[in-house]
Amino acid sequence: MLIVRGIDMKRPRKIKDYCPSCDTHTNMDLSRGKNRPGSELRKGQRRFRRVTSGYGGFPWSKPSGAGKPVKRVYLKYTCSECGKTWQKKCIRSRKLEFTE
Ligand SMILES: [Zn+2]
Repeated sequence: MLIVRGIDMKRPRKIKDYCPSCDTHTNMDLSRGKNRPGSELRKGQRRFRRVTSGYGGFPWSKPSGAGKPVKRVYLKYTCSECGKTWQKKCIRSRKLEFTE
């Protein structure tokens, strides 16, 4: 799979994909998901607390300049048969567009 950064992502609104609950391929509705809020129990946050504790300065240089122009896109897949929803991580892109 080719991953191109900084590109607009286009996805159809309805696709056919595997539903783990129905155990077959069903029609799925796509919508934009949200990334989960940070938690103190997540791996990255625990690592951050460990490396910034004790002696020594901040372990990596602070980023300078403007932020990244692209953001990670999360897609929500809703099964049309059972109504359950899954969220999947997608590529980093500037914007997300739904094509009919
Ligand atoms: Zn289903």
